[in-house]
Amino acid sequence: SSSKHDKERGVNVQVILRCRPLSEEEIRLNTPAVITCTESRREVCAVQNIANKQIDRTFAFDKVFGPTSQQKDLYDKAVSPIVHEVLDGYNCTIFAYGQTGTGKTYTMEGGGKKAKNGEFPSDAGVIPRSVRQIFDILEAQSADYSMKVTFLELYNEEITDLLAQEECLKFVDDKSKKPIALMDDGKGCVFVRGLEEEIVSTADEIYKILEKGSAKRRTAETLLNKQSSRSHSIFSITIHIKECTPEGEEMIKCGKLNLVDLAGSENISRSGAREGRAREAGEINKSLLTLGRVINALVDHSGHVPYRDSKLTRLLRDSLGGKTKTCIIATVSPSIHCLEETLSTLDYAHRAK
Ligand code: ADP
Ligand code: MG
Repeated sequence: SSSKHDKERGVNVQVILRCRPLSEEEIRLNTPAVITCTESRREVCAVQNIANKQIDRTFAFDKVFGPTSQQKDLYDKAVSPIVHEVLDGYNCTIFAYGQTGTGKTYTMEGGGKKAKNGEFPSDAGVIPRSVRQIFDILEAQSADYSMKVTFLELYNEEITDLLAQEECLKFVDDKSKKPIALMDDGKGCVFVRGLEEEIVSTADEIYKILEKGSAKRRTAETLLNKQSSRSHSIFSITIHIKECTPEGEEMIKCGKLNLVDLAGSENISRSGAREGRAREAGEINKSLLTLGRVINALVDHSGHVPYRDSKLTRLLRDSLGGKTKTCIIATVSPSIHCLEETLSTLDYAHRAK
């Protein structure tokens, strides 16, 4: 659907497709690429051989970024307009959705190159770029603002605070310790009891927080013997801007940006095949499947939106639907060996449109 059409219908969900390049290893092994991206037509084509017959399936998205696309390009075209909405006082959410190994973390955080003399590395992802743009705009406007961030991980429908003190981690299995809980305030809003909120005033502070949180995500991973591919991470920035109306009245504009690196989508298709397997797979699916249903309900304007069915959608309730903007960046691999997962990602992402 065209963006003009979306505006008329009041739909604010945008779906973007990004295909990563073949890795060096895949090139070395002569792995065939079966995905073609036509950015100008916003189309992705998957080539399948079924019973010796070649079948092409084409999917259209709001934007398509092929294997040679750069981080800056994706940011400028797809994310920057959303950051402007946040500063205008809207709640917005950007999701990275896809199979493990297709570039969700690369897209959201970056490729891990070090910054040189204060400059961004070229592979910096959506999170550091958004942070920088937010500060650049606020400073250019000499705005009177305050900003706070939270960083949490959702694993097995349980919340881990990635900003909490290190000691908390050791007690993660200690049942006597009060877990971080999702609470309803009785007015349809949720808040996370016990979640650390850090007030930040420079971009550097946020980068440090990000680094600390990501490192903690990796530590928690080994401590609990789990894989980040099975957890969702949510980095949220809330901005309050003080403004004066022409009449001289003081007004506070509040916007929020959620940047979500979702669990690997392979869990969705797999557990379907192995019914009743680990609770874990089911719980992870609950959030991913509910997210899909919530987005479908929002896009179709079909009355009931099942926010309450998973922690992920409860957490993001105030930033999904209504006067908010949602962007899903679906990531895929070009490799023939990933084709089945790629087709299921293309289907999921396409249904969200
Ligand atoms: P995911 O988070 O979806 O599991 P990663 O972000 O860890 O996947 O990406 C897997 C590997 O592919 C990493 O080594 C990453 O640097 C590389 N990669 C992913 N997307 C791109 C891209 N668009 N360009 C270059 N390398 C990429
Ligand atoms: Mg990842």
